[in-house]
Amino acid sequence: MSKEVTLEDIVSLCKRRGFIFQGSEIYGGLAGTWDYGPLGVSLKKNLTDLWWKTFVEDREDMVGVDAAILMNPRTWKASGHVDTFTDPLVECSECKGRFRADKIDLRKCPTCGAENSFGEARQFNLMFKSFAGPLTKDIQSAKYKVNSVEMTNGDRIDSEKNDSAILYQDSSKIYLRPETAQGIFTNFKNVVDTLYPDVPFGIAQIGKAFRNEISPRDFVFRSREFNQMEIEYFINEKDWQERFEKWRTDILSFLKEAGVDVSKVKEAEVSPEDLAHYSKRTIDYEFEYPHGADELLGLAYRTDFDLQNIQRESGKNMEYRPKDGSEPFVPHVIEPSFGVERLIMAVLCSAYTEDEVNGEKRIYLKFPAHIAPVKYCVSPLLKNKLELVEKAREVYSALKKKHGTVMWDDNGNIGKRYRRQDEIGTPYCVVIDFDTLDNNTVTIRDRDTTKQERVSIDDLLSST
Ligand code: ATP
Repeated sequence: MSKEVTLEDIVSLCKRRGFIFQGSEIYGGLAGTWDYGPLGVSLKKNLTDLWWKTFVEDREDMVGVDAAILMNPRTWKASGHVDTFTDPLVECSECKGRFRADKIDLRKCPTCGAENSFGEARQFNLMFKSFAGPLTKDIQSAKYKVNSVEMTNGDRIDSEKNDSAILYQDSSKIYLRPETAQGIFTNFKNVVDTLYPDVPFGIAQIGKAFRNEISPRDFVFRSREFNQMEIEYFINEKDWQERFEKWRTDILSFLKEAGVDVSKVKEAEVSPEDLAHYSKRTIDYEFEYPHGADELLGLAYRTDFDLQNIQRESGKNMEYRPKDGSEPFVPHVIEPSFGVERLIMAVLCSAYTEDEVNGEKRIYLKFPAHIAPVKYCVSPLLKNKLELVEKAREVYSALKKKHGTVMWDDNGNIGKRYRRQDEIGTPYCVVIDFDTLDNNTVTIRDRDTTKQERVSIDDLLSST
C-alpha cells in the first residue's frame, strides 16, 4: 500500500519536474504567488478545459463570459466587498508576526511561541487596491502639460491649480477583483439581452482573482493570486432545492472525471449560524489535503442578493421577462465556485503513488490519461543508431500531430526514461527498437502496471 502523501512530497515533485515554481524565486520569492512551469501549464489547461467542456460546451443551458479583471469600484460597493470582505487580523506583540485569528490557537504565537501575546483582532480587508491612470502628482510633473483631467464621473478638474487633487485620486481608486463572480453578475443583462436564454440558465467564467491573504500557506492552497472557475446559475426561486441537488451530483461527477479521489471529498454543510446573510444554503466541498481537510470548492444558494444589489446601485432593471408572458422576476442564483489551484492540488494528491518495481522504490502520478500533462513519450531504444532515431522521429511526429502533448526522450537508459515519465504521470511510453524496423510494431509500456505490449504503429496511431 502506498504511503500517505505529504505536502513536502507534492511541493518537491512539482519543483523537480517543472509543474509549479515559487513566484519570483530568483529574487527570493514573493509570498502567495506561484509560477506554472511547462508541465503545470499543461495540467492546468487540461483541468480548466475539462471544466469548460463539462459545464459549458456539453450543456444546452450554459454560456461563457470573460470579463475584465479591473471593474468599476461601484461593483465592489454593491457586492458588499468594500465593507465586509475582511478576515480577522491579530499581531503578536513579541515577534510582530501577523495571523488570521480564526486559523490559529490564540493562546500561543505559532511563530515565536509567546503566550497570550495577541491583542484584539481587527478586520482586515482582503482586496488589493490600486489606481487607474496617473495620479495627480504625476500629472503635475509630467513632461507634457495637461490642463485638465477627466474624472470617472465625467467632471473635469484643473490639474495645475487644483485643491481637489484628492478628489481625482479617490475617483480613480480601483481594486483587483477578489472573485470572478461579479464579472458574471454585471453581464447578466448583456447576456439576457443578446441571447434571450430561458431560465434556468448559467453563465460561466474562468479567470484570475486576487486576495491579500494575511498568511498565504500550504503551497498553492492559499495564494494571493489564483484562478477561479465560477458559475452563476439563474433560476426561478421556487426551483432552488431541485436545482441545488442537481448541482451536487454534477460537481461530484466532475471531480471524479478530473481525477480527484472522491472518497477523500466531504460535503460540509455550512450551519445556519455560519451562513453568509444572503445565503439560504451553502456546502463547502472539503478535500483531505496533506495539511488537513479544507475547502476545495463551494456551492451556494445566493438568493437574488447580487442582482438586487446591482439593480439598486446601477439603477438598471435586472428583471427577467419570461417568453410566455408571465410575470417578470429577478432570478435567484446557485453558485458553484471552484478554485483552480485547490483542484490541481487535490488532483496531484490523488494521483501521487509510491510502489516498488524490481525491488526499487518508484513514484508515479496516476492521472487519468485525459488529464496527464504528457500523453505519450516516444524513445528510440538506442540514441546512437540512426535508423532507430529516424523511425522514432516519424512515430513521434505522427503522435504529436494527433495528441499535441507528446514528449521525446532519448536520455539515459530505458529504465531511467520510464521512471522520469512515471513521475510526471505519462500514461504510455512508446519505444522503437530493431523489431520495429522489421515489422512496423513498437512496444507500449503502461505507467500503472509497468507491463509492455507490442502493437503495430497503425493501431497506435488510430487509437484515441
Ligand atoms: P477560505 O475560507 O478557504 O478563505 P473562501 O470561502 O473565502 O475560502 P470563496 O470566497 O468561496 O472562498 O472562493 C471560492 C473558491 O475560490 C474557494 O472554494 C477556493 O477554491 C478558491 N479560493 C479562495 N481563496 C483562495 C486562495 N487564497 N487561494 C487559492 N484559492 C482560493
